[in-house]
This record gives sequence, C-alpha cells and structure tokens, in this order.
Amino acid sequence: MPELVRDLSEEQLLARIFPLLPSGSSTLVGPGDDAAVVAAPDGRFVVSTDVLVEDRHFVRSWSSGEDVGWRAAMQNLADVAAMGARPTSLVVSLVVPGDVEVDWVTGFARGLALACAEVGAAVVGGDLSGGDAVVAAVTVHGDLEGRAPVLRSGARPGDVVAHAGVLGRSAAGLELLREGRPDVGEALVTAFLRPDPPLEAGLEAARAGATSMMDVSDGLVRDAGRIARASGVVLDLDAPGTALAEDLAAVRVAADALGRDATTWVLTGGEDHGMLATFPDGDLPAGFRRVGRVVATAPGSSGPVTVEGAPAAVGGGWDHFSG
Ligand SMILES: [Mg+2]
Repeated sequence: MPELVRDLSEEQLLARIFPLLPSGSSTLVGPGDDAAVVAAPDGRFVVSTDVLVEDRHFVRSWSSGEDVGWRAAMQNLADVAAMGARPTSLVVSLVVPGDVEVDWVTGFARGLALACAEVGAAVVGGDLSGGDAVVAAVTVHGDLEGRAPVLRSGARPGDVVAHAGVLGRSAAGLELLREGRPDVGEALVTAFLRPDPPLEAGLEAARAGATSMMDVSDGLVRDAGRIARASGVVLDLDAPGTALAEDLAAVRVAADALGRDATTWVLTGGEDHGMLATFPDGDLPAGFRRVGRVVATAPGSSGPVTVEGAPAAVGGGWDHFSG
C-alpha cells in the first residue's frame, strides 16, 4: 500500500518536504521560523502570484507531483523574469486531499526545486492544508538588480517585436493528451507538463534596453495585444511561415495527426511562457528572434495586432483575440 498524506501528521509531512526545498543566496532566514527574511539589496522587490487548481489547470492522471511543482514554480518565475528581474524567493501554499500519496507531495517539492535551480531561487516558506482537491498557490519575489522594471506600456513605433523561447508547443501537447495520442509528440507533451522558458532571456532583454516585455501565457496574439493596448501602438507580426518556421515545424506532425492547424497553435497557444519583448531597432539580445515590428495606431485601424499589416485573421479561430 502506498503511503498516503492522511497517514502522516502535518509535522511528519513537513519533515519530508523541508529537506527537498531549494535554498538561495538571497535567503536571510529560511523555512522553520514564523516568517522568512529575504534580502532586497535593490531597495525594491518584484512580487507576483499564481495558483494552480486540480482539474482546472492540471489533472493528476497526466501530471506527476514533480510536473505540477515544476509548473507552479516556473509560471511564477517567468512572470518575474518578464519584468526584467531575477527571481529570488517563493512562498508556496499547497492544499492536498488526504488520499494523495506522500510520494506525490515530495515529488511536488522536487519539481519546485528543479525549476528554481534554473535561476537560484529559494522556497522560503509556505503553508500546507487538507482539502477536496490539490491547489498550489505560489508567490514569487524578484530583484531588479538596479534596473528599471520592463513594463508592458513602453513599446514605441519603430521598435522590433521579438520573442525568446518556444510557441505553440504546450498547446499541442495538451491536445495530444486530450486526444489520447501522447505518443505522437512526447516532446510536446513535456512542453505542456513542464514548460521551460528561457528565464535568463528576460534579464538579458532588460539589460539590452527592452522597451516592453511580458511572458506569453495566453498566446502570442492575445499577449501581443496586451502590450499593444498598454503602449497605445499596433504590433504588426511578420509572416508566421517565415518568422515562426521553427515552431511550426515542431508542432506540424501533431497538427497533421490530429487534423489541427499548426499556425493556430503557434499564434494562439498559451502556457509556453517565453519572453515577448520590444526593442529599439538594432541587434537583439541572445535568445531573441524577430517576430514583428511596432507601428503607430492608425485611425480606424484593424486592432492592436496585425500580420504583415493585415487584420490578424489567418489560420482561423484566433481573429477574435485581435479586437
Ligand atoms: Mg505573465
């Protein structure tokens, strides 16, 4: 019989979890006290929070504890990196039903640690509770290292739109799982279960003078629209067949197998958490590729996002995001 959460006291379960949690150089007082103390040498700290709910954001039959821990950490780390800040510390609250295996919970802690290791962030505290479904709530803090935060509102006409990371892979992986065809693209399924955005690219972008940035959690077109609206400009994307050829190639086999449109996945698929940024015209920092340009809003224009100057309506199913 596997050991279940209800077989242990809270203290016993915490004793299993604590040794697995990642530590970091910014931690002054770590887990075990009433609260943690984290260095904020910059005098400011960046903070964001995100929650994952079982059967809404993940299902336990697809995702291991390690997968959910990784994803809970990574989507928070990406939000801080997208501000141009270095993630320093996380606090993590986990609600877990008594019939969940202890191994699932320790796997969750290992997943947190694996994701945090990419940037040296620590888990400095949290909370544990029983409940009817698994819920993982993560709050992340980050250090701007003396830089200005990179906001969504700074894109200017003439800037280049660039992206670091992958697009459409997570959406393709999710569809493969839904259709019971994970064998068609195991790398895509992994991209959904454990998105692996280039967090350092967010810091690089800030150092290189990015004028705006966010991580792509809801799809390129939708999130480009958010930058465009915040900045009062239009983001005109380059032809996907050229600018996004690599992403299209990566999801092509899965799209063909399921009878889906690869371009739709790449333009509208979310949860890859890559960095979408705008830069003054010139060389792009390492990891970024050009995906479009920023243009001024014209009177009566077709919306905040266009593709080669035309209303964002190719590929089907995503033009409503441009309105
Ligand atoms: Mg975000």
